[in-house]
Amino acid sequence: MSEPAVQGRRRDALLLRGGTALWGDALEPRPFETLLIEGGRVVGMDVGAGDRDDPVVMDLDGAYVLPGLIDCHVHFDLAAHPAAYEHYGAGCLVRSLTAVHNGLVALTYGITAVRDLGSLDHGVIDYAAKVAGGQIVGPRVIAAGRPITTTGGHFAQYGRIADGPDAVRLAVREQIAGGARVIKLMATGGISTPGDPGASQFTLEELSVAVDEAHRRGAKVAAHAHTRDGVLTALKAGVDTIEHAAFADEETLEALVSARATLVPTVSALTPIEPGRGIPAATVEKSLRARPLYRDSTRRAIAAGVTIAAGTDAGTALNPIGGLVDELELYVALGMTPSDAVRSATVTAGRAIGGELGVLAPDRPADLVVVDENPTENLTVLRRPRHVISAGRLIDLDWSRRTVAEMREVVTGSAGTGTGGSRT
Ligand SMILES: [Zn+2]
Repeated sequence: MSEPAVQGRRRDALLLRGGTALWGDALEPRPFETLLIEGGRVVGMDVGAGDRDDPVVMDLDGAYVLPGLIDCHVHFDLAAHPAAYEHYGAGCLVRSLTAVHNGLVALTYGITAVRDLGSLDHGVIDYAAKVAGGQIVGPRVIAAGRPITTTGGHFAQYGRIADGPDAVRLAVREQIAGGARVIKLMATGGISTPGDPGASQFTLEELSVAVDEAHRRGAKVAAHAHTRDGVLTALKAGVDTIEHAAFADEETLEALVSARATLVPTVSALTPIEPGRGIPAATVEKSLRARPLYRDSTRRAIAAGVTIAAGTDAGTALNPIGGLVDELELYVALGMTPSDAVRSATVTAGRAIGGELGVLAPDRPADLVVVDENPTENLTVLRRPRHVISAGRLIDLDWSRRTVAEMREVVTGSAGTGTGGSRT
């Protein structure tokens, strides 16, 4: 699927004129006369167009340019149905289209990269490869393939069950052989599935084997963990990110700091969960009980100086892709500065997922968002990106929104529950 208009010309160089960049690791506001992009990468600021004869020129009229936003925790083959996992019954065509739909929605919100932390099969990995190859318009996707869990553990109904160190090693190898660039481990129970969300699942030995296998193959490891024992065991095993930590005590937060691990809270995922919205009663009950504790846990994590990368758990019940700013605003409500909130979805997120994303600097990938004001002073402007640039290409936002609207019925109507889907 290729886009018409500006993208269709595929001109290699793009020259932005007259804006302010949130530059480098510091996100320092720096006014520029020109910002040159070529070959999908940032060349530099005020370097002119050189001898490039035909760059696409865009006047920014004082707008701000920042690194494209990164959502570190999504599920791209889910459609935010009230009973989220019923979508897995929709079949591979609809789930594939769901990934394409979610990718376009993400771009319209300025999200130029996501980490997919677990899908039913390797469809999202295939989608990621097609995006990387320029055949599908979408954000970059670092995909986990199937999440690895235990017999009777969180997500066991759909995940890759592995019991014992050898089985865990095999499960990790399967994901990496399939193209996974991150490994997702379910270290404790969950809120959206039956059972105690605090119950530990894997042993230290199992988690350590998974980390060893993943790291030797150049993949990072994300551990879903809500409580003390699960988080501490996962950290001891050497995982890179802890997902959620909804019920963390002080010792757990100190351990996160001293392990220099990154927490991806996804604390806004529970916001839409209320009775009477079609969400299974058991999930509603657990979520309502967890919500104040989860927010308090995140508030204390921010206060304790835990490194936080932004993620939404998008795809889960009534939590469609695109809600990253809701998550950032909740961090601010829980004590983070707006500037650090922007950092959590750019610089810190880029480090968490590995690689060179999340920073606007020379020779970095040109994944950029243009907004009307400085988002570190007013986060809300991130809700209305003026332009989105992905791998050096200007995204046609109108085309993306129209295509999303055309796909919406097949994506959201498939499970017969209907009210999930897109935010747009
Ligand atoms: Zn998740």
